[in-house]
Amino acid sequence: MNYRHIYHAGNFADVLKHAVLARLVVYMQKKDAGFRVLDTHAGVGLYDLSSEEAQKTGEWQDGIGKLLAAELAPQVAELLEPYLAAVRELNPDGGLRFYPGSPKLSRMLFRTQDRLSAMELHPEDYLKLHRLFEGDHHARITELDGWLSLGAHLPPKEKRGIVLVDPPFEEDGEYDRLVDGLARAYRRFPGGTYCLWYPIKKNAPLKEFHEALQALDIPKMLCAELTVRSDRGMTGLTGSGLVIVNPPFTLKDELHALLPALKDHMAQDRYASHRAFWLRGETKTVKQD
Ligand code: SAM
Repeated sequence: MNYRHIYHAGNFADVLKHAVLARLVVYMQKKDAGFRVLDTHAGVGLYDLSSEEAQKTGEWQDGIGKLLAAELAPQVAELLEPYLAAVRELNPDGGLRFYPGSPKLSRMLFRTQDRLSAMELHPEDYLKLHRLFEGDHHARITELDGWLSLGAHLPPKEKRGIVLVDPPFEEDGEYDRLVDGLARAYRRFPGGTYCLWYPIKKNAPLKEFHEALQALDIPKMLCAELTVRSDRGMTGLTGSGLVIVNPPFTLKDELHALLPALKDHMAQDRYASHRAFWLRGETKTVKQD
């Protein structure tokens, strides 16, 4: 386990993931009943963008850095408000030093009745995450293989929940593990809302991944992808995607407003693109730039 999220915190992929996660949390809160967020690969929860590691890559500058500085259209600003308000709250002096990881973001958006279960397997990162939430009765932090939690921690006792699966993709076969993990989790908790993250880069097996997801007997599956640059001559990440199972009925329209704006503000060349489409469920319309 070499991956450390501090090198990537707040990058364009975090922005898409966290903007959508915030929309999912907000939607859950339309009902009074509490819900649980299960965060299977949680990271350390709070990132110092002035740290040596974050400064080394500077990835946040092309992600949250650009978004915070952008002038957003009113509809986009409204959709991003829960997410961006959390970032601003961590930086009360108006700068950008601290960035919330997924467990911290969820927690910042919670009401008293909402709960977090977060898994982190890296011993040092687990300790940091554990310390961050020490004494917080809304959060249960466990040093456990996140893939196992898809069995052991589902369904949540609240019977309502969001499951974020955000593995580091440092080993081969992670796309297959995502598909298998979703299949297992969905059998235990078919009513849950799932959000699975995946990388887009040169030669990524996206077609096979999408087909394997389509082959699962899961009726509602939405995909959102944002690519910020061409993959010509590039080996690293050029974009990222999210598979959202049981999405709020409003999410597709929200994505059609959000994705073009995120693309416009974070594009690194003229090949930047986005799309939101149903893998299973509603009509398979594809909107692409
Ligand atoms: N979800 C976080 C966020 O959005 O702020 C970022 C998570 S980062 C992409 C992936 C994390 O998973 C890393 O912190 C890594 O240490 C951890 N990890 C790797 N393998 C794991 C496993 N099998 N179970 C749980 N955590 C794991």
